[in-house]
This record gives sequence, structure tokens and C-alpha cells, in this order.
Amino acid sequence: MHCERSKYFVITVDDPGALVRDLGIFQNTLDFFAHEEVEATYFVVPQGADGEWRVDRNREWVHALREAGQRGHDFQLHGLDHGHCEFGAHPALMSIMGGADYAARLKKDIEQCGHLWTRELFVAKLRTGLTIFENAVGHQPLAFRTGALSQSPQLYEALAEVGLRYVSNRVIDPRGWHYIGGNYDVKEDWEPEVPPMPYSLTDKVADLPIASEYAWKVPPDKVDRHVALALEDMDRIYRRCDVFILICHVQEVGGEAPQPQEVLTQILEAARKTYQAKFITVRELIAEIKDGRVPVITPERRQPHGGYYNGS
Ligand SMILES: [Zn+2]
Repeated sequence: MHCERSKYFVITVDDPGALVRDLGIFQNTLDFFAHEEVEATYFVVPQGADGEWRVDRNREWVHALREAGQRGHDFQLHGLDHGHCEFGAHPALMSIMGGADYAARLKKDIEQCGHLWTRELFVAKLRTGLTIFENAVGHQPLAFRTGALSQSPQLYEALAEVGLRYVSNRVIDPRGWHYIGGNYDVKEDWEPEVPPMPYSLTDKVADLPIASEYAWKVPPDKVDRHVALALEDMDRIYRRCDVFILICHVQEVGGEAPQPQEVLTQILEAARKTYQAKFITVRELIAEIKDGRVPVITPERRQPHGGYYNGS
């Protein structure tokens, strides 16, 4: 049973800027969402791994971002340089695609990068990212997402210190990543530690959880499977709250293969027709939260068995 309140649908698109520098791919993505008549939120990577390329020093990029901003698109901050384990360990779902043993990979990452995961270093990196972002876009971001969702307790302390109180850094349904890895028979269900609704991640930072990624590396004969997973998640999430947050990537949406756009078109159509969803940006979602129209739950409401609001 669906209640009378509006359902919100938030489209987030990762990696434009220093990670995917091809402006044609960004433009293709903008054109796709213009055709769909929806605004998206782009998580922009400010600086290249070499520290040389910066989005605010590229005139074409600054022009493209500001023009898209004037047309209603939203921009938020996606790490500093999207480097490996940039702000902490990668979640288990990032290991799914490589088929690697997560425990072994985590141990290696901690050995290699753990000494860099300090609040002080993170504050410095975040301040650099914020400066580049503001130079490029013209205003400060409200939300943060790390490259490949790397994260640590020190990241959330550092984010609070620089005034970023919202992240979109955890995934409700890891199965989308299993699909990317070509595993369509996965038994795994939703991540029990991630509530399927905005929630307090720490006492200062709230997470706007990502439903899943449905439009990455979609084989031509698997379009229906990817769409079906999205529709199942949409139904289950909308039964529990009014906010569905989609993640996709410019290199797929704006790339050569037609399947990512085919998947997204069907998902957006279901959101419109089945739920009469209102498409809003991350900035608008945060305004709804601040005005008290969208609640942020606290993790104390965790259920004793089966995690947060899991099941169907
Ligand atoms: Zn990314």
C-alpha cells in the first residue's frame, strides 16, 4: 500500500571532472537527462591523481558546469582525486566486481594506505577539494561522496569539521554490483547495516543512502534483469520511505553502449507512472530535510533481527 505523500526520486551521476575529463561524455549525459526532462545531481571529481589537472583551471569544464547549473542541474563533491582508498577502506561491494577475497584486499589496503587515514590529512584534502569545487561551480557543495565509496570514521569527523553534514556514501542493495561482475544468481539481499532511508551516520553527519547501481556494464541480453532489480528496490524502498536515490556514472550513461540509457529510461518511466515520483536534486532533498518534510532516522531504531527494515 502506498501512502499519499510525494515520492522523491534523486538521480546522482558520478565521476565528471578530473576522473572522466571527456566533455563529450558529460554532454551526452546532460542530453540524455534533458531528453528525459529531469534534472540530475553530478558528483564532480575536483583534481587529477597527479595533482596537475584541476577542474577549476579548465575553462571548457567551468563553462559546461555553470551552464548546466543554470539549467537546474546540481553539483556535489566526489572526493578529491578519486584515488585508491582516498578516504579509508572500500566497502565489500567494491570487491565483488574483481572477484577478490575482501578480507585479503582489506588487509592489504590497510597496510598500504592506513597510515594516510587521519583526520588532519582528510581535513586538508577536503579543504583543497572545496576550494577547487567552489572556483569551478561558483558555490559550496552541501554533500559529499567518496570515490569508490572509500570511507572511515576519520572521514566523517573531517567532514563535520569542514562543515559538510551530508554524505551519500552507503549502498542499500549490493546486488547491482554483483550484476556488474556478471553474477546474476546472487543470494545476497540488502545490506542489513544500511537503513533504506536518510539516517544519522554519526552525531554530525547524515547519510543519504544509495539504492544501487543498475546501469553499469549492462549486457544487451540483461537489460530486463537490471530493470527488474531496480523496480524491486523501488517498491521496497518506497514502502519504507519517500526517497529513492539512484547512482549512475557519466562514462556509462554518456558512453557508446545504448543499454545504460535503456535501463535508465525504463526506471524513470516506472518512477513517473507507478509512483508519480517528483524528481529532485540532492540540494533540494537536503532542503526538504532541513524543512522537516523528509525525516532523518536515528540508528537506534534498528530491528533486533535481520537489520534495518529488511525483508520485502
Ligand atoms: Zn566515482
